[in-house]
Amino acid sequence: MTYQFIDLSVHMEENPGELAPYGFEQTGHKEGADRFARQFDGSRKDFPGEEFLNMEMITASTHTGTHFDAPLHFGSMSEGKPAASIDQVPLEWCYGDGVVLDVTHIQAGEAIEQPDIEQALERIGYKLKPLDIVLIRTGADRHWGTPRYLTDYPGMSREATQYLTGQGIKVMGIDSYGFDRPFKNMIGDYKRTGDNAYLFPAHFWGREQTYCHMERLANLEQIPVPYGFKVACFPVKIRAAGAAWVRAVAIVE
Ligand SMILES: [Zn+2]
Repeated sequence: MTYQFIDLSVHMEENPGELAPYGFEQTGHKEGADRFARQFDGSRKDFPGEEFLNMEMITASTHTGTHFDAPLHFGSMSEGKPAASIDQVPLEWCYGDGVVLDVTHIQAGEAIEQPDIEQALERIGYKLKPLDIVLIRTGADRHWGTPRYLTDYPGMSREATQYLTGQGIKVMGIDSYGFDRPFKNMIGDYKRTGDNAYLFPAHFWGREQTYCHMERLANLEQIPVPYGFKVACFPVKIRAAGAAWVRAVAIVE
């Protein structure tokens, strides 16, 4: 049996499509050799090829690049219990049957509503089952690497998210900067109406019904089938964190 692996992650890197500062400090092989050799009064000449092992130190948000938001990110409580941190997310949720829902017709700044999700499912003739991993394809990843990535994408509504959690979905993901609409749209609507239901409605739904979502996915158009493939998306095991980096991969037979 042969498998095709499709990388659904973007790079962790300094990028105009990111808001949080990103620090990356690399110690090269030669420099590292000099440094390590001080421990035994040696020099880089003590190492094969005069090279030691390279190293990196990074300073980054847990939401840098393609990442996985745990229930703890959404609030302290979920379904009336203390919300799970990223290291507490069951591994069973992070590997399963994937389904891509195409909502590329929805404009930047607009909400992806429940009927949009239902219609996307109808178009591909798929019925969701518990623990499917639902990938929302907006096409906004085409702006990755530019400042437009921060502002030009649609976001999931509370009802659309509720519809998915109601089907037993525990992990969903989106190929844009965030699961909710862009900050400027949410804040604009809040200021205009005074109604705080406009602020992060999908994220806050996670306080009512426990679920996780991935943000900044990419390459969903490269998955050759809308369903009938696996998704593996195990987040890095950071103790007590609300989110972590994830290498999300679609596996097609
Ligand atoms: Zn996030």
